[in-house]
Amino acid sequence: MKVLKFGGTSVGSAQRMKDVAQLIMDGERKIVVLSAMSGTTNTLVEISEYLYRKNAEGANDIINRLESKYRRHVDELYATDEYKQKGLELIRYHFDELRAHTKDIFTLFDEKAVLAEGELISTGMVNLYLQEQGVNSVLLPALEYMRTDKNAEPDATYIREKLLEQLEQQPDADIYITQGFICRNAYGEIDNLQRGGSDYTASLIGAAIKAEEIQIWTDIDGMHNNDPRFVDHTAPVRNLHFEEAAELAYFGAKILHPTCIQPAKFAHIPVRLLNTMDPKAPGTLISNETELHKIKAVAAKDNITAIKIKSGRMLLAYGFLRKVFEIFESFHTSIDMICTSEVGVSVTIDNTSHLAEILDELRKFGTVTVDSNMCIICVVGDLDWENVGFEAKALDAMREIPVRMISFGGSNYNISFLVRQEDKKRALQALSDELFS
Ligand code: ASP
Ligand code: MG
Repeated sequence: MKVLKFGGTSVGSAQRMKDVAQLIMDGERKIVVLSAMSGTTNTLVEISEYLYRKNAEGANDIINRLESKYRRHVDELYATDEYKQKGLELIRYHFDELRAHTKDIFTLFDEKAVLAEGELISTGMVNLYLQEQGVNSVLLPALEYMRTDKNAEPDATYIREKLLEQLEQQPDADIYITQGFICRNAYGEIDNLQRGGSDYTASLIGAAIKAEEIQIWTDIDGMHNNDPRFVDHTAPVRNLHFEEAAELAYFGAKILHPTCIQPAKFAHIPVRLLNTMDPKAPGTLISNETELHKIKAVAAKDNITAIKIKSGRMLLAYGFLRKVFEIFESFHTSIDMICTSEVGVSVTIDNTSHLAEILDELRKFGTVTVDSNMCIICVVGDLDWENVGFEAKALDAMREIPVRMISFGGSNYNISFLVRQEDKKRALQALSDELFS
């Protein structure tokens, strides 16, 4: 069975919901994961903020406006009076739930319950629409099987067990509709997998049922080999290794939530990125297969700060790096790139909220210099060290650009350059020209 996930924009209006329905009504049995309609989760966050501030009136205003919007969606979505009626009942039920939160003290638990309403409504609406179309579709309630453990990590064993139980209870359905994002925590309270978590839901479900494929449907034709906002003539990448996709996601290719792909990767379930605007396009297939001898894509991450620590004491000493890393650790600041020489080490960070304290500590070890407004340019592909010439090609593309750091050999899949932010566009274009044309 395949798992298909559609994000907020893909179900962002009655018409888009109908388009999604068209896409999934192909006679194949499947699980469909849906986000809330676009904008809804943000509005629910806003409602929660009013309630935290004990402004029930303000919250009710937003709730009323949101409800009217949903009533219009319902009117547009269904053709028959019978289903318009069912749609309105669904909306009324969930908005009554929301209003109940305005009458009592508001806690973190209530906020989680409020945030869950977006996905509960969107899935209910699409499920009813499919039924109106004569499709044998049912809801799989995520709150019955999606769960995190005491470390707030998904509880894979529980998820698998409960999900299979749910599927067995409704063996004859053709389409299973379920909520992305929402779950329960280890104590059974309503919770979520963090903003943007619907991709994660799809990946967890795919791994739990050993799906044939996980499809993430968005509005873009897969991942591109460079950032189209800065570079001309980018092209979609057809195949990516999970590690390559993870690097790209981290480096700002906004298309996939980085944590999302872990469960799929470990379960060897391929993830396909597809475009609702162009459903026939092949998209991008992410799997554990490496395409040999191919550089796939380039991505950049802004707002990077480089810190260099030079110390005579580092020469022939052991334990120096540990001491340096401990400083970053104690300030909960993660390091992205590292380059070392015999007398110094350079690292990069993107979270500078504790920079001043970190620098104070580091100065005890040697001379410290800082370069801010830097940018990591990451080249992703089959960059196994034994493949001759690939890193040379990437380096050659950078021949006109001042490069502050180079990192290669950390994985088999990338080489990264640290350059000035103002050189980013030039660097991306030069790499595209050298590597992809
Ligand atoms: N609706 C949630 C959000 O807006 C989850 C998602 O769309 O993935 O963050
Ligand atoms: Mg998303």
